[in-house]
Amino acid sequence: MKPDQLLRPAPAGLYCPAGDFYIDPVRPVARALITHGHSDHARAGHGAVLATRETLDIMEIRYGEDFCGTRQAAAFGERIDLAGVTVSFHPAGHVLRSAQIAVEAGGLTLGAPRDHKRGADPTRLPYQPVPRDHVITPATFGLPVFHHPEPKAEMGKLLTSLRQFPERSHLLGAYSLGKAQRVIRLLRDCGYDAPVYIHGSLARLCDYYVSRGIDLGDLRPATLEKGDPTDFRGAVIVGPPSAFADRWARRFNEPLIAFASGWMMVRQRAKQGGVELPLVISDHCDWPELTETIRELAPREVWVTHGREEALVRWCELAGVPARPLHLVGYEDEGD
Ligand SMILES: [Zn+2]
Repeated sequence: MKPDQLLRPAPAGLYCPAGDFYIDPVRPVARALITHGHSDHARAGHGAVLATRETLDIMEIRYGEDFCGTRQAAAFGERIDLAGVTVSFHPAGHVLRSAQIAVEAGGLTLGAPRDHKRGADPTRLPYQPVPRDHVITPATFGLPVFHHPEPKAEMGKLLTSLRQFPERSHLLGAYSLGKAQRVIRLLRDCGYDAPVYIHGSLARLCDYYVSRGIDLGDLRPATLEKGDPTDFRGAVIVGPPSAFADRWARRFNEPLIAFASGWMMVRQRAKQGGVELPLVISDHCDWPELTETIRELAPREVWVTHGREEALVRWCELAGVPARPLHLVGYEDEGD
């Protein structure tokens, strides 16, 4: 079997002609395999959905009970037959129970790590390398300038700021699925045990993480209606970055805007977003991790789905690994 009979780019996303299914399709399809719950990968309206139990639960939290026709939960490592094609899900280390999917038929294995991250993170199972002939990877931070620092050291900057500006409300922007729970857990691991206030839109996902055994400590709603803005003096308030652009944020006491994202490496992005305290905390591989993953897997070919494809393709060529960009559209990861 040729690799493109197993997976090929199509308008709706990565398509498996042999098994007639898509991986993370960007528009409704009859059968979808979903790697994780970020909104650019997990969309509502598919016929049948196959994903980990947690990804299915997260989709239900975000889109409601009837987000798809039928659903099937895949356990990590379980081999599932779809019209003669074997698929299996493996930890990707990106958000809670996010998966890389291996697709096998006719002695050929293609692996789609999609969004993944290496390095320690107590809110998810670590990434596991899964050997495959072809590696399909995004290149979200696919430029050599992207080196993500140690997350605890980044969080230490927030704790230092809290000591320096005890009057100010520290508003920490973090995407609602994965990043928000991760930064709260990081705060706890850095010894911060005061209540953390959360924007209402984070409540259900934080509750879900807690129900899956991720201890987030004392979480309270960041509701101003009842109280006085000075109630939040010196407090940490976590919310989606979109909330910090509106009036909600300005009602806090001398708000100091922090933002946890891999993009905070780019000074210009922090400036444009009015971020006073950028924290480089990412749920994606940085350049050294991306290239280490490819070296470790030593595939016959690398397919780069989206992001900064050209630089990674060029690096692969120089490393003697054939590579090509797939130019998939519609993936602007919400969880960078
Ligand atoms: Zn993602």
